[in-house]
Amino acid sequence: FEGMTIVELAKRTGESISTLQDILINVGEKLDSEFDPLSIDIAELIAMEVGVNVRRLHSNEGAEVLPRPAVVTVMGHVDHGKTSLLDALRQTSVAAKEAGGITQHLGAFVVSMPSGASITFLDTPGHAAFSAMRRRGAAVTDIVVLVVAADDGVMRKLSAMSHAKAADVPIVVAINKCDKPAADPERVRVQLASEGLPLEEMGGDVQVVEVSAVNKVGLDKLEESLLLQAELMDLKARIDGPAQAYVVEARLDRGRGPLATAIVKAGTLVCGQHVVVGAEWGRIRAIRDTMGKLTEGARPAMPVEIEGLRGLPMAGDDIIVVESEERARMLSAGRKRNLRKIGSRRWMRRRQRKLQIHQ
Ligand code: GDP
Ligand code: MG
Repeated sequence: FEGMTIVELAKRTGESISTLQDILINVGEKLDSEFDPLSIDIAELIAMEVGVNVRRLHSNEGAEVLPRPAVVTVMGHVDHGKTSLLDALRQTSVAAKEAGGITQHLGAFVVSMPSGASITFLDTPGHAAFSAMRRRGAAVTDIVVLVVAADDGVMRKLSAMSHAKAADVPIVVAINKCDKPAADPERVRVQLASEGLPLEEMGGDVQVVEVSAVNKVGLDKLEESLLLQAELMDLKARIDGPAQAYVVEARLDRGRGPLATAIVKAGTLVCGQHVVVGAEWGRIRAIRDTMGKLTEGARPAMPVEIEGLRGLPMAGDDIIVVESEERARMLSAGRKRNLRKIGSRRWMRRRQRKLQIHQ
């Protein structure tokens, strides 16, 4: 964020400079000069107050980017075996093996391959949560595994497939339940292709893997396919600097307060930082990995559980790092006011106005 001035912000929001200055004073901030650059948090706050929806654009320009693991979501029709497949994949993770199969439920887990590569699986977002996350611009998923039961009829596959397509990320198909006598993976292939999914064996780029979640067959193949897909995508992220992260799942713990499972997209989330999470705020008191082990920081694609928030955020909420508790409070209060305003129609109309700022 290059630091927009209040003059520039007035121009971009169509409001007068004095209106914006009044808002600044109301939130207890002041500028020495109209030409002082605003911090991104203040810019967002002011814009929200005048009904302009701010979207933070993150650029990695000038920063060192390094390869990162792929983040994978499983989708598919109910009963086709998503939960079974995730459980089976979870058991192939080194962490699960070390802990004798007991990992804490974080809504995400990491499978580490012998090669040293790893894959992060999100095991929460159902279609609704996933859509909500995308609506809020939280594109945390790199690849979707579309689970299709090998013994199922035609009709029911379609909606799951369109959901997977709507995710607008590469799809890898897992034809599940291949152990069943009634399984007919060939028929599934033909159906998917006739519905417009460009399968690899027919000249497209969608890989298809036959698996049995119950018998744990084909899991290594599926993991290999995901790694191959990830390789093609050349996934990279900035490691240093403030984190840009998203909430995957949140819950209230009686003793520890609000807990959020988070995935970092870029940068590193560090213990002790002040954060704004959706409309909530807090100071990160503890970061735990998928094993429940305390860790100092979370890097890209590493699922962690964060503790220290003052309220319960929602799946898909963004996590931003701010410089102080006052900033966190202020931005959170501004976002809460903004959420309340969205209820009124006048504001809804005004909210059509959007402002994109680079961070
Ligand atoms: P979800 O609704 O997509 O999460 O599906 P579940 O994982 O709950 O599975 C639905 C049913 O299919 C359960 O009774 C599973 O035991 C069964 N199932 C899942 N995977 C397989 C498989 O590979 N083979 C067989 N035979 N049954 C399976
Ligand atoms: Mg399920």
